[in-house]
Amino acid sequence: MIIGAGAAGLMCAIAAGQRGRRVLVVDHANKVGKKILMSGGGRCNFTNTGATPANYLSANPHFAKSALARYTPWDFIALVEKHRIAYHEKELGQLFCDDSSKQIVRMLLDECAASNVTVEANCGVQRVRKTPEGFSVFTARGEVHAESLVVASGGLSIPSMGASGFGYELARQFGHAVLPTRAGLVPLTLSGKHQEHYQDLAGVALPAVETRVGKQSFRAGLLFTHRGISGPAILQISSYWKPGDDLRIDLLPDQDVGMWLVEQRTARPLAELKTVLGDVLPKRLAQRLCEQWFESRPMRQYREAELEQIGVQLNAWPITASGTEGYRTAEVTLGGVDTDGLSSSTMQSKLVPGLYFIGEVVDVTGWLGGYNFQWAWASGQAAGEVV
Ligand code: FAD
Repeated sequence: MIIGAGAAGLMCAIAAGQRGRRVLVVDHANKVGKKILMSGGGRCNFTNTGATPANYLSANPHFAKSALARYTPWDFIALVEKHRIAYHEKELGQLFCDDSSKQIVRMLLDECAASNVTVEANCGVQRVRKTPEGFSVFTARGEVHAESLVVASGGLSIPSMGASGFGYELARQFGHAVLPTRAGLVPLTLSGKHQEHYQDLAGVALPAVETRVGKQSFRAGLLFTHRGISGPAILQISSYWKPGDDLRIDLLPDQDVGMWLVEQRTARPLAELKTVLGDVLPKRLAQRLCEQWFESRPMRQYREAELEQIGVQLNAWPITASGTEGYRTAEVTLGGVDTDGLSSSTMQSKLVPGLYFIGEVVDVTGWLGGYNFQWAWASGQAAGEVV
């Protein structure tokens, strides 16, 4: 029996069904695969051809290696091609359906049907009891006895889509440690004067900035929102950022801005700083930065050291985030079932034989860009081969 008909649960069901196991997948939501449906803006970024263990966060960075090596992006691509689903690479190895994420859910359900897997929506699991033969699972539709139980109930992000803490409670019930959870791949919020300074820039976008927390950095787009900052570069770094951490944003990562400004002073001595910056940054942002930090004067009035200092600020903008938008808008949940209690090759519990944890409920979280589905497929397959 598998709890959760999301990406990991359905993948596991297919692998187990193909081995001739009798499989029941239940989900408390009214539709299965809801997160797949809403993913990638409705086109499902179903994998990333460059996925390696380095693209995942976990207290044990080695845990994901075995499953990811045995079920690769190319294995999933082969399945997608077998079902004649057209796809394309958007950027950096990110593969999306040409048409709709519904095709991925349809593919998984067709594979389930071909392997005689039973999938039931509107069937929440309330309680689980260990029995000498396996597990007694109490669902909205009555009690089910199962030899093996796979927990694929996902994380806490987007509660309105059926996310629940059920998998964590079940893990604790059976003696597993659950590492603290927090929202990942999530917009950051600003507060106080930081929010006042930038909130009317909502909608302003920069195509390529570099966000940095400690040694981790990401180069991608940034978007100002009413509550703070978002865009891929922010979502990526949000998984590494904790309140109080120093977040730096290089607004012009391809340029030594200080040196460039000194050159501009010679080339355009009468132009105002905000005009010069407005050539390489969105004009509204250039103006706002000048208002907040450096008054805008004609370039010839700045000393070289002043321009270099302005450059340093723009190449490492020290923005103070107050928090994140939380699980309401987060794409993933960091933390979760401690991998110390699980076998990395099968996902089976080291404490309770026959119990498995797969997908997002486990303390393995991918970057933005198809990595999270790849973990769901790989961990689902790993359990499905042995369950
Ligand atoms: P889920 O897909 O969350 O499935 C868990 C299932 O368990 C749910 O259907 C839930 O209803 C069910 N469940 C929970 N509790 C119970 C219970 N007590 N009883 C019965 N059922 C229960 N990742 C990518 O790689 N590419 C993307 O393009 C992408 N886009 C995303 C867009 C959004 C808006 C969000 C929120 C996430 C996105 N992700 C993406 C992340 C990805 O969706 C998840 O990492 C992935 O779905 C995790 O799979 P899972 O099977 O572990 O959990």
